[in-house]
Amino acid sequence: MALIVQKFGGTSVGTVERIQQVAEKVKKFRAEGHDIVVVVSAMSGETNRLVALAKQISDQPVPRELDVILSTGEQVTIGLLAMALIERGVPAVSYTGNQVRILTDGAHTKARILQIDDQRIRADLTAGRVVVVAGFQGVDAHGNITTLGRGGSDTTGVALAAALKADECQIYTDVDGVYTTDPRVVAQARRLEKITFEEMLEMASLGSKVLQIRAVEFAGKYNVPLRVLHSFQEGPGTLITIDEEETMEQPIISGIAFNRDEAKLTIRGVPDNPGVAFKILGPVSGANIEVDMIVQNVSHDNTTDFTFTVHRNEYLNAQQVLEATAREIGAREVIGDTKIAKVSIVGVGMRSHAGVASRMFEALAKESINIQMISTSEIKVSVVIEEKYLELAVRALHTAFELDAGSSHNE
Ligand code: ASP
Ligand code: MG
Repeated sequence: MALIVQKFGGTSVGTVERIQQVAEKVKKFRAEGHDIVVVVSAMSGETNRLVALAKQISDQPVPRELDVILSTGEQVTIGLLAMALIERGVPAVSYTGNQVRILTDGAHTKARILQIDDQRIRADLTAGRVVVVAGFQGVDAHGNITTLGRGGSDTTGVALAAALKADECQIYTDVDGVYTTDPRVVAQARRLEKITFEEMLEMASLGSKVLQIRAVEFAGKYNVPLRVLHSFQEGPGTLITIDEEETMEQPIISGIAFNRDEAKLTIRGVPDNPGVAFKILGPVSGANIEVDMIVQNVSHDNTTDFTFTVHRNEYLNAQQVLEATAREIGAREVIGDTKIAKVSIVGVGMRSHAGVASRMFEALAKESINIQMISTSEIKVSVVIEEKYLELAVRALHTAFELDAGSSHNE
């Protein structure tokens, strides 16, 4: 018998019929003798609807009141699911974040969980009840309702699993696991049996949308075994663990992530003095613009070019800031490009294998794809390329690293 936290996302509880299906599933699980805590999101579309309602009243809703509104979405689904369970003869009880007491800081709309009181839940489990908890919400030390940021129910699930020392946190969603890359881009993409927290974190921050980044961080920190599964299809899903040894059989690269959300800015003919990088990037971060990749060229004639990427939404802001800087420091010009994409290969296997980056560059060269920028970390290599080659690049890399379904490495 195990203690399992099961989290169901918005599409999994998107209709009454689906809520009934979830109840059936939970009932079956419980019949196997497990203790179960269920965390649910709001019905799909509901949180967006609530945001839109608030915006009809105020362009910039007061965060405290917005949280009061947003938290209602999950309050509806916990009540409905608990009722559906009770209708099936399964003892169940629902709790809001406040009722459990999921204590958070006071950062409305992006609060962090500080502490979870497990007493009430433990008492219910001992009494044989399924406990249904509202995702995405908590309460601060002053009793104000808080929410955890969009997608925050994943974090609630993981945090509850950590607090209860659950045997597993299962995230049920509309895909059957974590894939080597987006199956819409590469038809041969395949589900991973296992992936490490570190790899999952890279994949999530590089654009894979299966799990909320903060939830993965939390799971890694507290070593909560996490499994991504399809809500309504049978299958083992993907296990996310700390265990590198057991994944050693895998290819060097676990996955390929990509995103189209970045834009590139270059300031040219910068006088190359000490402090130049700070002079350029200081005002950018001063304007609250996050910078991703950075490249400074080797200088000649005492001037250099300096290139960095930002989120595409911040492109115009960054360009303005940079133009002011260019005038100030006497740089030649500012140029930019929004039609870029970032492609990254991710894998802990890189630590023990040389030549991974060059294999990546070779695969791109074979397709005549020009690499504009490169950055590396211990378990990742990222390149910036022209956006129109994105899909070609991802496909070529997927094949080059033998990730395609049916390729020799993964039989
Ligand atoms: N309902 C919230 C959202 O849509 C939280 C979640 O689904 O995880 O972001
Ligand atoms: Mg979600």
